Amino acid sequence: MSIIKNSIRCNICKDVVESTHVHDYVKCKCGRVAADGGREYLRRSFTLPTDYEEMSIDDSCDDAVSFIRVVGEELVIAGYPGGDRAVILANIRKMIKELAKLKNKKQKRTKK
Ligand SMILES: [Zn+2]
Repeated sequence: MSIIKNSIRCNICKDVVESTHVHDYVKCKCGRVAADGGREYLRRSFTLPTDYEEMSIDDSCDDAVSFIRVVGEELVIAGYPGGDRAVILANIRKMIKELAKLKNKKQKRTKK
């Protein structure tokens, strides 16, 4: 299994944090929960396990792809067992934008 995105959402302040590298310890706005470990491992700091919603993505689950569908020009989550769909969709859209940005950068570089 490899980690694609190491992220949690605080259920108290609703802040979404992402640990992007192995020693990247990121606290939410209210400081109740934190994510650490980047793409190496998922480490969580919390008071109660219900303090946060897991937002991480890894490559172990085929369903991670099949539950997302394109309907018209929109991304739609079909049959996801839990979590906040609006937050998940927002994250997916953000990732698509990031990918588009990276592709643009690459194209600019190859043009030079
Ligand atoms: Zn918080």
